[in-house]
Amino acid sequence: PRSAMDHQPKFFENLSGTGKAIGVLTSGGDAQGMNAAVRAVVRMGIYVKAKVYFVYEGYQGMVDGGDNIVEVSWESVSSILQVGGTVIGSARCKSFRTREGRLQAAYNLVQRGITNLCVIGGDGSLTGANLFREEWSGLLEELAQKGKIDEEAVKKYAYLNIVGMVGSIDNDFCGTDMTIGTDSALHRIIEVVDAIMTTAQRVGIKAVFGCTFQVSQFSFFLSNCFSIIPVAALRASDCRGCISFRGRLLFLNMFSVFLRHTLLEKIQTHFESYKLVVQRLGFDTRVTILGHVQRGGTPSAFDRILASRMGVEAVLALLEATPATPACVVSLSGNQAVRLPLMECVQMTQEVQKAMDEGRFVEAVRLRGRSFENNLNTYKLLSHKKPDAELPKTNFNVAVLNVGAPAAGMNAAVRAAVRVGITEGHKMFAVIDGFEGFARGKIKEISWGDVGGWTGQGGSILGTKRTLPAKYLEKIADQMRTNNINALMVIGGFEAYLGLLELSAAREKYDEFCVPMVMVPATVSNNVPGSDFSIGADTALNTITDTCDRIKQSASGTKRRVFIIETMGGYCGYLANMGALAAGADAAYIFEEQFDIRELQKMGKHLSFSSCKDIQYLIVNLLTVSGRNCYRNENCNENYTTDFIYQLYSEEGKGVFDCRKNVLGHMQQGGAPSPFDRNFGTKISAKAMQWISKKLKETYRKGKVFANTDDSVCLLGMRRRNLVFQPVAELKNETDFVHRIPKEQWWLKLRPLMKILAKYKTSYDVSDSGQLEHVAMHSPKEAETGAI
Ligand code: ADP
Ligand code: ADP
Repeated sequence: PRSAMDHQPKFFENLSGTGKAIGVLTSGGDAQGMNAAVRAVVRMGIYVKAKVYFVYEGYQGMVDGGDNIVEVSWESVSSILQVGGTVIGSARCKSFRTREGRLQAAYNLVQRGITNLCVIGGDGSLTGANLFREEWSGLLEELAQKGKIDEEAVKKYAYLNIVGMVGSIDNDFCGTDMTIGTDSALHRIIEVVDAIMTTAQRVGIKAVFGCTFQVSQFSFFLSNCFSIIPVAALRASDCRGCISFRGRLLFLNMFSVFLRHTLLEKIQTHFESYKLVVQRLGFDTRVTILGHVQRGGTPSAFDRILASRMGVEAVLALLEATPATPACVVSLSGNQAVRLPLMECVQMTQEVQKAMDEGRFVEAVRLRGRSFENNLNTYKLLSHKKPDAELPKTNFNVAVLNVGAPAAGMNAAVRAAVRVGITEGHKMFAVIDGFEGFARGKIKEISWGDVGGWTGQGGSILGTKRTLPAKYLEKIADQMRTNNINALMVIGGFEAYLGLLELSAAREKYDEFCVPMVMVPATVSNNVPGSDFSIGADTALNTITDTCDRIKQSASGTKRRVFIIETMGGYCGYLANMGALAAGADAAYIFEEQFDIRELQKMGKHLSFSSCKDIQYLIVNLLTVSGRNCYRNENCNENYTTDFIYQLYSEEGKGVFDCRKNVLGHMQQGGAPSPFDRNFGTKISAKAMQWISKKLKETYRKGKVFANTDDSVCLLGMRRRNLVFQPVAELKNETDFVHRIPKEQWWLKLRPLMKILAKYKTSYDVSDSGQLEHVAMHSPKEAETGAI
């Protein structure tokens, strides 16, 4: 990781794919988002002037050759971004496991001059790819000996470059925080769980779910489920724990080899486990098996963005590969794209499998990586209340409040804060309606059970207001004193940040504010300084993406139509930019990248060109415009509004395309939180509360908490791959207060990506890529990441 100082932009214009041929295949089990990855590889490949080939049906197509390996064009991957599964097919292939099969595959590749392979699949597929690479020169020699290729070809195609992307809904691959497909599978799971919860509460039944192992591991933060991992599955002690969890859900992973090794060897079928649960728990139990639902449906916004980023990264890795670089996997650590040696990841992944097969479950969990272990611990902490007698007692009172506009995931954050606080021995207080409610004395104690079931609920149950504390300082201080509040936890957006700045500025006057205060960012706009992500933004992105999919579909009977979509975000173009990336838009106009009439005209040309293509279908063009009128400000260009662009395009496009506009508005703030927001909200908030406990201890002297240093008012944010506490005072320098955005925004770097995928010439700073890391080095840091 380099500092901003020695940041040397490295642009990819210098990387050329001329003369290179890249083959892309999907192999093993399919996963949502694979198409987005294929699309990105194809377009990036063509963009850098390489030839790109589809290899249909995984390795089977490579062995069979013929029509199974075909060169593709830019349009070959049109309109697949939103499609689940894989359009190029995926298969298990026995013959590729034999040298004979691989020899045939090598022959088929050499014939087409393909020496770069991008494999999207699980650890099996990647192991196969690596083996293929190792054998490559031997295979070519054998082909030459057999007279199938000449010596020149052996020399010319001497090296095979391999890059892998992990596509798997199981998230079972070491070295990656998220595999392509996991987030979408979680979407499917929570859809079902949220639906079942309503009936479960009515009848008071337990539902037992069969879902794949790793997914169930990641489901800890769903609703108020009682979720058991197979390791612990059905141990008597856990069953006893269940008794107090009436009406809750129980997650089981029936397919896991774990079950063979638990105390209950006889469990082999869902039915038997079901009977067992009934027997042990003595409750009315119903079973729902999720099965292939988890693999289905459209990819989530997260998966589309992840896959698009990784696809582009994969092509870069292929272009930069030398005979000396090992085969690598591109993946995501925190919010950072990394390259890891393929075999290190595969070996570690196989060790996990081995540990599981041998019944060493604790070790399996440890080997899977620290973030995974953290997830598990956080889940356990939040779902089981220890008996009061076992809880410590601190005599500290901690208040939690929501500030700003509602954002999905806020309630999950409140739940985690309250429960962690109680576990740490504090008395927890809930403030209703933000700072305004606080001033009015709307504060009450909140218990473990009060926040049950909050994880899956949208909006803000506590109530949230934008009001800043400055004009109520006196009254808020009064409330802090009367309720003896020793620490504050604020969950909110830009106003929460401003609010904490105001409170810390008031410390000289009011001793009451000399207590630890922390905020976690929660806003759909993702415009809070100090964090790459904020709670709620992912849910909003999914809303935007879903809506764009529908809009695209609505036009399937219409030719040549341009859609202009306005998103929320104030001056912050995050939603517009990422929404555009996830929906496959042609452009995203945002405040951060000034545009003028020339820019719009260029776009108009681009549109009329693409519509001149002789196509039978529609032209779907999604123009995403950030809602720039939300906050009127003289510095902002208030003339280029959605209406203006709409009118301009309607006029300019006469006879070529017609134009429609959609203002998405407040639907972006509503809805049930996405898995990402539940997970992120839970984890970041749990961590913030642990920080509060630590600060309380540090600043408690002579019967009183007294904290007046800058580092006692912090914002907890995700930065690249770490969760970091940053004094709000220090964040001031990083803030553009006029436009309410951070001065530097990481996602601006992804803008070129969207443009590349929409066929624009652009420049892309790739200085962050290209460092090959090691799994071991990578793992310890995971402890700090949100591991999303
Ligand atoms: P995607 O959203 O999958 O990336 P493209 O970027 O390939 O789609 O779309 C390229 C251009 O073709 C865009 O201007 C888009 O609006 C238009 N387009 C999209 N789908 C179709 C289709 N089925 N037929 C013709 N043109 C399409
Ligand atoms: P996944 O990639 O999802 O783990 P599999 O383990 O079934 O799925 O692997 C998919 C395909 O990859 C197999 O059908 C086979 O063709 C190939 N493959 C897997 N392991 C190897 C291996 N050790 N050697 C050669 N090919 C392999």
